Amino acid sequence: MEYETIVGLEVHAELNTKTKIYCNCKNAFGLEVNTQICPICTGMPGTLPTLNEKVVEYAVKMGHATNCSINNVCKQDRKNYFYPDLPKAYQISQADIPLCENGYVEIMMNGEEKRIGITRIHIEEDAGKMLHNDAFQGSLVDFNRCGVPLIEIVSEPDMRSSAEAKAYLDTLKSILQYIDISDCKMQEGSIRCDVNVSVRPKGSTEFGKRVEMKNVNSFSGAMRAIDYEANRQIEALERGEEIYQETRRWDDQKGMNILLRSKEDAQDYRYFPEPDLTTIYMPLERVEELKNSLPELPNAKIKRYVKELGLSQVDAELIAENLPRCRLFDECIKLGGCTAKNVSNWVLADVSKYMNETGKDIADSNLTAEKLVKIITLIESGKISNNSGKIIFEEIIQNNADIDKVIEEKGLVQISDDSAIEKLVNEVMAANQKSVDDYRGGKTNALGFLVGQCMKASKGQANPAKCKELVLKYLNG
Ligand code: ADP
Ligand code: MG
Ligand code: ZN
Repeated sequence: MEYETIVGLEVHAELNTKTKIYCNCKNAFGLEVNTQICPICTGMPGTLPTLNEKVVEYAVKMGHATNCSINNVCKQDRKNYFYPDLPKAYQISQADIPLCENGYVEIMMNGEEKRIGITRIHIEEDAGKMLHNDAFQGSLVDFNRCGVPLIEIVSEPDMRSSAEAKAYLDTLKSILQYIDISDCKMQEGSIRCDVNVSVRPKGSTEFGKRVEMKNVNSFSGAMRAIDYEANRQIEALERGEEIYQETRRWDDQKGMNILLRSKEDAQDYRYFPEPDLTTIYMPLERVEELKNSLPELPNAKIKRYVKELGLSQVDAELIAENLPRCRLFDECIKLGGCTAKNVSNWVLADVSKYMNETGKDIADSNLTAEKLVKIITLIESGKISNNSGKIIFEEIIQNNADIDKVIEEKGLVQISDDSAIEKLVNEVMAANQKSVDDYRGGKTNALGFLVGQCMKASKGQANPAKCKELVLKYLNG
């Protein structure tokens, strides 16, 4: 029998507000353990939370960016459970009335758009972090993360493969980055996700029982977890076994999951309205204002790159997926003077290589859009070769060099003058009579060698197209 995989994701994103959600402690990663804490975020009896307004604004922005309707009047609720990283023994979250609901995002799968429903987006607080220490023979708790603001984005069970889940996660991540509400650093845990998987016979319209997986720490890990779990369920069904709704723990190293617990229900958490906080209310004008404050979002950008700038879908997606890259690209296009295709090539090749190799943001480097446009314009006009462009790029990155000075000092002006190249071609042909004879005798691949020799003789300064043209003229003339 053939099966279909059904996936729904619960994504938690840490918001990059300056302070925590209910107190004035700093919201920052990587600070010394238990230094960013106060009586409120450590749950001391008698303290009272005060909601950080920015958290609501950020979440509403995400709601708009994912086409949700906004509940401008809503409340917060207590979700009760015990764990050592949760000193209050409850998490303030939102139960029946989330801030945002009924939205969708569009993902691209093999050149086609697919809508993934967003059930809800709500705000909540993060818990602390357990540090398991072998030397100490036990666990310690770092409360710095207690009270860090989160949004939870719950999707509809609309994905049908691990690849779709990955595309959805990439899309969410780039939206979060574009609207600048989360750092999106997987390695720092600023985006985390729970993965829900079920399978059903192909053609069936009913859903199977879902299994929720925890401890998925990367997008590629999510794909592995989905594929593993779908297979596990299919094999169980094939053996005639039943699938139970349960929570399992993904172990990425072992590439398998283990049962954590049978699925808990909402009632297990004894949710009730948080009595220490008032109703959330955002005036509709403010809701609207936030909508209008959104920048051009990734999908709109990709479509514009393809439609108006003539980029390929792949290149458009590659540029749009990385914010610093796409900022640079947009600036270059705005300045104008060179083709979008060449800007795209430079941004995806040399600029990306620099960013990957150094781990640095191009915005913190010496390269500006003005300089990049100047290099490309010089190449397009034939004044310098592509190779010289790369030398100049390197000089800018390394030494913040002046472009005109580099061209002059390194003698990078390209020779496009016919008579100068012709003279060079005549000399090279005379020195390579055997290859000339080969070519004329039908071995046409001697052409590449001869053009290469001419380029070498010019120390790379001859215009390659001109060079080839004149070599051919000599050979056939
Ligand atoms: P809980 O708090 O119990 O995890 P949520 O409503 O927060 O419940 O999340 C449920 C998640 O499970 C959603 O992302 C939803 O899309 C997904 N889901 C629901 N039914 C299925 C199913 N049959 N197969 C796969 N995923 C499912
Ligand atoms: Mg859940
Ligand atoms: Zn605090």
